[in-house]
Amino acid sequence: MTAPLAPTSLSSSSASQPEEAAPTGTGAAPVSPGGASETLFERAVKVIPGGVNSPVRAFRSVGGTPYFVDKAEGAFVYDADGRRYIDYVQSYGPQIAGHAHPAVVRAVQQAAERGTSYGAPTRGEVLLAEEVRARIDGLEMLRLTSSGTEAAMSAVRLARGVTGRDKIVKFAGCYHGHSDSLLVAGGSGVAQQGLAGSEGVTDGAVADTVVAPYNVIPRLDESVAVVCVEPVAANMGLVAPEPGFLQGLRDACDEVGAMLLFDEVITGFRLCRGGAAQWFGVKPDVWCFGKVIGGGLPVGAFGASTEIMSALAPLGGVYQAGTLSGNPLATAAGLAVLELLDDDAYRRLESAVESLQQGLTQAFAAAGVPAVVPRVGTLLGLFFTESAPHDFDTASAAADNGLYRKFFHGMLRRGIAFAPGAYEAIFVSLAHDDSEIEATVEAAAETAREMAADR
Ligand SMILES: *Cc1c(COP(=O)(O)O)cnc(C)c1O
Repeated sequence: MTAPLAPTSLSSSSASQPEEAAPTGTGAAPVSPGGASETLFERAVKVIPGGVNSPVRAFRSVGGTPYFVDKAEGAFVYDADGRRYIDYVQSYGPQIAGHAHPAVVRAVQQAAERGTSYGAPTRGEVLLAEEVRARIDGLEMLRLTSSGTEAAMSAVRLARGVTGRDKIVKFAGCYHGHSDSLLVAGGSGVAQQGLAGSEGVTDGAVADTVVAPYNVIPRLDESVAVVCVEPVAANMGLVAPEPGFLQGLRDACDEVGAMLLFDEVITGFRLCRGGAAQWFGVKPDVWCFGKVIGGGLPVGAFGASTEIMSALAPLGGVYQAGTLSGNPLATAAGLAVLELLDDDAYRRLESAVESLQQGLTQAFAAAGVPAVVPRVGTLLGLFFTESAPHDFDTASAAADNGLYRKFFHGMLRRGIAFAPGAYEAIFVSLAHDDSEIEATVEAAAETAREMAADR
């Protein structure tokens, strides 16, 4: 299948204001009136827009008041009122080892005692870069940033610099951070708010961004610098690449001399040692990482062959920088996490994720609630629909049918925290043991019966 290249239709005036989410159907969030979370939220909304520093956290699409986290440990977060939740947010991916893993805490403490940032290179940066390179076949050099957004933004600039071309192709529902040219049709929080992109992004900024449907190989031409893709889409719920999609992208890029960029900010070091490139046996030209490689501290990275990376300043003419890039606390945390991620860790994680997948599937089936629980290795999703979505249109039809918010609040009341939005993946950590998975499945069975009775 091919689709013609069409310019994006996003204009800065076409994005509408997010609407206030309707109240939830079944029950309220466990945030108690007058409790510490509610009091903090009342204060937060006066000094922070929406009370949050990243929109998804605001509970807009599920309704209710967000719980404020006081502390977290392993599979659990504790809210400001001392309530404990089994956590499947896990910071949206970074906490693959579970919260406050002793090895990570120790690494960060030891690093902090030696100073928190210098503006000069450090041993930790070299060690982390070497560790990433050792795991990713074909990646020879990388540069560290402070976020996945910066990594993707810089990788696109690099691809444009190296190819001397302007156009970039992305897929609807894939998220590559919130930089201007990549935010269009961005999935995650953008989708959750019903936005096509963002106000404040000029037509000029997206004029060279082409949006194609996921799982369809776009027809490329020699104006395309780079094709950006989440090799497993994990920001429109979880949507797996269909067999041949990634290889098809590789071939299409090779045909016109475009670069292929795998945004592995979620899949990297979560799917397996070598990430999606190893999992699917398709090698991109450029990789982006984030989340897991920072162990919960602010990190991103992008990498490629030595030849491509040599275009970057100070070796080449593509400029990219960062005061806190390669921060010593972040590299220490990232290294500590990667050290925990051997083949056995991935096997244990996959087995936990598989149990959860089976348990959830059975719970919804038993209650007669239409649901699919897609899984790619250690990555899990959940859609309340009959068949697994394959692109953004089918994913958003499933995400916006109102069932997720019922599930979300039913689970939260039972002490299980899923992401407050239907477009996020389910993040299981190495700290989720059988007992947490069993408790989650039991709560899902009760919630599913409630949802069925409510229909
Ligand atoms: C989270 C994410 C990003 C952005 O990373 P930030 O650290 O939030 O800026 C980019 N790409 C993908 C695939 C992501 O999931």
